[in-house]
Amino acid sequence: IGDADQFEFQAETAELLNIVAKSLYSENEVFIREIISNASDALEKLRYNRLTSEGGAVDDAPLEIHIRTNKYDNTFTIQDTGIGMTKEELVKNLGMIARSGSKAFLESMKEKGDASSSIIGQFGVGFYSTFMVGDKVTVYTKSHEQGSMGYSWTCEGGVSYKISEAEAVSPGTKIVVTLKPDCRKFAEDGTVEQIIKKHSTFVGFPVRLNGKVINTVQPLWTMEQKDISDEHHLNFFQYLSGNDHEHYLYKLFYKTDAPLNIRSIFYVAEERPTLLEMTQNTTGTSGVSLYSRKILVQHNTENLLPKWLRFLRGVVDSEDIPLNLSRELLQNSALIRKLRETITSRMIRFFLEQSRKDPEKYLKFHENYKMFITEGVLAEETQDKKEEVAQLLRYESSSLPAGEVTSLHDYVSRMETDQRNILYLCAPNRHLAETSPYFEAAKSKGLEVLFCFDAYDELMMLQLKTFDSKQLSSLENQAVVDQMKPHDGAKDESIVGSDSAEIKLSSSDGAGLASWAKLSLDEKVTDVKLTDKLDKHPAMVTVWEMGSVRHFIKSQYLTNP
Ligand code: ADP
Ligand code: MG
Repeated sequence: IGDADQFEFQAETAELLNIVAKSLYSENEVFIREIISNASDALEKLRYNRLTSEGGAVDDAPLEIHIRTNKYDNTFTIQDTGIGMTKEELVKNLGMIARSGSKAFLESMKEKGDASSSIIGQFGVGFYSTFMVGDKVTVYTKSHEQGSMGYSWTCEGGVSYKISEAEAVSPGTKIVVTLKPDCRKFAEDGTVEQIIKKHSTFVGFPVRLNGKVINTVQPLWTMEQKDISDEHHLNFFQYLSGNDHEHYLYKLFYKTDAPLNIRSIFYVAEERPTLLEMTQNTTGTSGVSLYSRKILVQHNTENLLPKWLRFLRGVVDSEDIPLNLSRELLQNSALIRKLRETITSRMIRFFLEQSRKDPEKYLKFHENYKMFITEGVLAEETQDKKEEVAQLLRYESSSLPAGEVTSLHDYVSRMETDQRNILYLCAPNRHLAETSPYFEAAKSKGLEVLFCFDAYDELMMLQLKTFDSKQLSSLENQAVVDQMKPHDGAKDESIVGSDSAEIKLSSSDGAGLASWAKLSLDEKVTDVKLTDKLDKHPAMVTVWEMGSVRHFIKSQYLTNP
């Protein structure tokens, strides 16, 4: 055995370790899930390598995870026959934080200024979770790379770690956790068995506890839908999301053989994603993993779904995907594109079905995920589907009581046969919309107007432009409303005029006022005209053509009041 080299942890890692080690997180049992998941990843990598490398070293050690508990020396040991680590990989993977979850954890903690241990569970801290239960952690590992040596990595205390060459290390990784005095239950066979069953049933490799195989459930997506219970689904969802407290709102089991073979399951989490989750991970990774005949091709596969569907959790298994698809090919392949299109259409159809089946539940979904759907209408990659996606959106309407919402489709079905425009008005809230000068003319003509309360709605409407061959028109472009006929049964009060007629300006006074206003406003306006269409407001700003005009006007005001 060679001399040990001592290494300092990267500052962030040391900080994380310190927090984790001191935490009294009541669910510290999740460390078992974390290291089983790492072992499973390592086995997946090895299996993938074996299948894709041409004539690489063939060794036939079974792909398995072994866990041993020892009550006499208070240790918990896990061993896998996976890919293993080289010395460089040990330093990089266990000495620094690469994992986004850990980073998010530290950030969130700084934000809240609180070391509350409950957020540890929320993020999952991967390998470092072993320090919640262990005083000392030793990792023995040997990479499958040819000519690799065995190494041991030891950390006691958490400021630094030691690496030395080690003999008689089998290919793969073994982790020995020496348990803290109050964590001795993790050296008990029965306790550990329960925990494995609870968190790790779906791991794709046999998990043996002191010799006995614990997980015997077959992959859910390969089962028949009728054989999958709600409990199966919940467990699987929690396994995928790595969070035992989360529940799903929707699940979709989707199986097809055309245009290509797909066995898949998707979940939508009940809880609204945090702002952090919404804004990070916009680069294209999804929450869905790609398999081929039960073998993992890639976790959180990029490009498998359009970005706006990144809130989905699930798996897609397709026999049509060759296992040796390289990462680059995975990004550009026509197969992936086809998968993406098929799944996206199915998802949209699924949400539409849900909105009809249980509108109340759908509204809950809509409330939490509207931003993603809107993003789907705006996104470059979904341009050919933007109307389909837009069907999922809901807005309040002048024809409905406050709080009730309608779809664009339903709006269209209520339109007069010769109406060519879908009218909308963007305002911060219902009251301001209803009392807005822009709304007056449409109201007096009895025309239905969609009310949009989110700042990004306007952008969406501008981008969508048409729906069902009807033009989307903002009320700020009053010319559109002027051209429209009153809705059946509504008399156009704006033409009749109101009792304010008595105190009307003479036409010469009016013209004088208008030209004064135009002169004073100078370059800010193209024209000032008299109108008898306003009832409750003295004046109104209109635009000729909607572009990003409104935002432009606003920002002009801010910089140049
Ligand atoms: P994550 O699994 O999200 O990457 P972890 O903190 O759980 O983060 O693990 C950090 C890294 O350590 C892994 O990405 C992997 O490279 C390495 N690692 C952990 N456990 C094993 C193992 N059993 N075999 C091989 N590599 C491992
Ligand atoms: Mg991990």
